[in-house]
Amino acid sequence: NTFEQFELNRQLLNAVADAGYTTPTPIQEKTIPLTLKGHDVLGIAQTGTGKTAAYLLPILMKVKYAQGKLPRCLIFAPTRELVMQIDKAVGELAKYTDLRHVALYGGLGPKTQIEAVQAGVDIIVATPGRFMDLYLRGEIGVKEIKIMVLDEADKMMDMGFMPQIRSILEVIPRKRQNLLFSATFPEKVEKLSYEFLEFPTRIEV
Ligand code: AMP
Repeated sequence: NTFEQFELNRQLLNAVADAGYTTPTPIQEKTIPLTLKGHDVLGIAQTGTGKTAAYLLPILMKVKYAQGKLPRCLIFAPTRELVMQIDKAVGELAKYTDLRHVALYGGLGPKTQIEAVQAGVDIIVATPGRFMDLYLRGEIGVKEIKIMVLDEADKMMDMGFMPQIRSILEVIPRKRQNLLFSATFPEKVEKLSYEFLEFPTRIEV
């Protein structure tokens, strides 16, 4: 099996080759086609399974071209480190495209992050707290959001991000595709999945 089996474009396949990925991992085998088709996905997968590329590749395929100023995809992760890591993966996989992306996280002043958002961005990778902070300041337009991802949802629940997630869901468009990834599936993640996902396909690896 190769990445050529998926309906990805040449820019993405070349970036995958540059990253040294030859065979899709099990989570990628399952997640990529379903996400490309537009399904909501509930992915139970640990770090190290290749889950990041599993959701990023179909997202990069769907959010094809740099367009306007407003972001079309939001990816949330619990920590600054994970946000930076996901944003780096976006940069690597989108290297042959003109997609614009930005990482939003706390621990430093928001000025550079606000400037990047204002310049126009297609994909935002953020911690829920910093995202909501900038949104409430009126710095982020959310009208064009088509895809939202919650990564390491169990950790987000443990860290008390549910109120921020709820606030985000209240302000972004209802008609969108949702992806949730979690290493474990305790009751609070199950509850979150009911609020967040619509008729999801469950993928477990
Ligand atoms: P993740 O589970 O997303 O944190 O990914 C774990 C590691 O696997 C990262 O360093 C990725 O770059 C790498 N990786 C992702 N997909 C593949 C693949 N298909 N083949 C080889 N390595 C991969």
